[in-house]
Amino acid sequence: MTSSGGWNDEPPRDCPRCERLVQFRAENAARFRDYFNAPVPSFGSPDARLLIVGLAPGLHGANKTGRPFTGDYAGELLYATLKAQGLAKGDYKARADDGFTLIGCAITNAVRCVPPENKPLPVEINTCRDYLAKQLAQMPNLKAILTLGQISHNSVLSALGIPKKAHPFAHGAVFRGEAITLVASYHCSRYNTNTGVLTTEMFEKAVATAKAAAGI
Ligand code: URA
Repeated sequence: MTSSGGWNDEPPRDCPRCERLVQFRAENAARFRDYFNAPVPSFGSPDARLLIVGLAPGLHGANKTGRPFTGDYAGELLYATLKAQGLAKGDYKARADDGFTLIGCAITNAVRCVPPENKPLPVEINTCRDYLAKQLAQMPNLKAILTLGQISHNSVLSALGIPKKAHPFAHGAVFRGEAITLVASYHCSRYNTNTGVLTTEMFEKAVATAKAAAGI
C-alpha cells in the first residue's frame, strides 16, 4: 500500500496490533468524531536526507489532524525551527491541509497511535518499531536522524540494530555511523520547554547539527 506521502508499508487505519491503543482509538473515535483517530502517517518524502523521529501523536494534535506534531504544542517549536533553518516552507497553520512543506527532511513517530496520557508502554513501542524500521529501509538518501527524546532515541537504535549501551541518550549527543549519523535531542514538549530542560537555543542547535550531518 502506498500512502499519500509516497511511503510504503504505513500502518493501516485500523491497525490491530496494540490492544490498549486500539481500545483508546475506539473511545476517541466515539468522543471526537471529527478527529483523524488512526495511526498517523509519516510527513514528508522518503527521499529526504534527514528523518526526525518523535514519540507519539498527541490526542488533540496529531491524532486530531493526522499529521505528526500538527496541532500539538511541540509542533509550534518544531515547525518554527524547521522553517527558520530552511527545512520547511509555507505557513504552518496547525492543519494537515495548510500546505506547509518539508524540505529535505521527513517526520515520523516511534509510536503511530495516540497513547493514553502521552505514555506508550514498552510493549507498544516494541510492537510499533516494525513500522519505523520499514520507513528507514525505504529512505535511499537517508544521512541523519534527529531523535526527539529518549524513547525515540532508543527505538531508532533498536530499529537500526545498534546497541543502546554504546550510544546512551544525552541531549546534543552525536553518533556517527558508517551510513547514518544520529543526533539526539530532548523532546520539544511543552513540559521540557516550560521547565527549561530544553531551551529554544538548545533545540535550534540540535536541529542545525542534524541538518549539517544530513548535508542539507
Ligand atoms: N506530536 C507528535 O506527533 N509527536 C510527538 O512526539 C509529540 C507530539
